[in-house]
Amino acid sequence: MPESTPALLRARWYDGRSSQPQPVLVGLEPGARGPGLRLHPLAPGTAVPPPFAHDEVEWPEAWRPSRAQRTVVVDLRQNGSLEIDDGAQWHAALEAAGARPGLAQRMQTRWRVFAGVLLAAVLGLALFYRYGTPWAATQLTRFVPVGWEQSFSQEAMRELDDGFLRPSRLPEARQAALRARFDALAAQLGTGDSSSLHRYRGYAPRLQLAFRSGMPANAFALPGGQIVVTDALVDEAARAGLPDDALVGVLAHEIGHVVHRHGTRLVVEQGVLNVGLGLALGDVSSVVAMASTVLTGLAYRRGHEREADCFAVGLMQHAGLPVAPMADLLMHIDGPPAGGKDQPPAAKDGSAAPAQPQADRARTPSAAEWLSSHPDTAARAQALREGRGCLVP
Ligand SMILES: [Zn+2]
Repeated sequence: MPESTPALLRARWYDGRSSQPQPVLVGLEPGARGPGLRLHPLAPGTAVPPPFAHDEVEWPEAWRPSRAQRTVVVDLRQNGSLEIDDGAQWHAALEAAGARPGLAQRMQTRWRVFAGVLLAAVLGLALFYRYGTPWAATQLTRFVPVGWEQSFSQEAMRELDDGFLRPSRLPEARQAALRARFDALAAQLGTGDSSSLHRYRGYAPRLQLAFRSGMPANAFALPGGQIVVTDALVDEAARAGLPDDALVGVLAHEIGHVVHRHGTRLVVEQGVLNVGLGLALGDVSSVVAMASTVLTGLAYRRGHEREADCFAVGLMQHAGLPVAPMADLLMHIDGPPAGGKDQPPAAKDGSAAPAQPQADRARTPSAAEWLSSHPDTAARAQALREGRGCLVP
């Protein structure tokens, strides 16, 4: 059949005045805005309306293959309606006349397409969350002034000190000795060819070390250069018989978090998400509150740990210091909690005995939570020991 001759379909035409249908043939013809429709009388003496343009017809709802055999009803408005028995033939003719189902119709009629579109949307969102926002945060962090970081960190430090942190009980001389090692390490950042150690051009905040008790063996860094080490970590290193190079290595890791501005990146990331969701638009106070929440949460990412380890290996090598003691210390604190004096002492029967007042205890994170802020400790220690802190998968 030549294309110029459209198929004619058998139909019953109800003219809207008589209850008796009249047999007709229906032709579907291509038109500028979609197929048009023409009626041809079958019975002699039947007067049919003139041809219908595409938008003069109420085209029936989307086609489902399972309903292909059902009668198709076409509303011709003031000219009555048509009934076509062969739905499959109707739709074939409609497509032949140039009808193209829109995306919305395909989504209505084909669940696979709908599921595909939904999956693509979810994947897109997930990819944006996983890669897009960290990438945007890394770029935007360039524009965050170090002064903002320092005020965020002061706020976070106040919250931690009001919460579970306690003043250090390390002797003054011990603090001074460790601070001297820390300062010497920080000074290495400006010596020789240390350009590979810098992540953000021109970013050189003053690095400060603080000692605290009140939480298990750990160290953490706040944006803008504030680094905190716990008495328990210093005690653990001593208990394991490790040289101070072990603690210096951990401090190098924390300096890595500062130099890579991980805390700021997390805050900015959260801000990107919030602004993206239209929640924090123009509301500075909620951004500040959110910032200190993120900072005190110290929800470091695995990628951030890798970067900090990589930085630590680089800085320690630059300073001519060994990395193995740090790895040994990580392995040591990754074991079962040793019950240092900063932790609630275990009762004689081995069950944990609450040593702190109820309200205080509620705000104290468990050792597991703190360790989980530095995940994969054993794998990291192994990689560090082999001098490949940058290559942890
Ligand atoms: Zn870390």
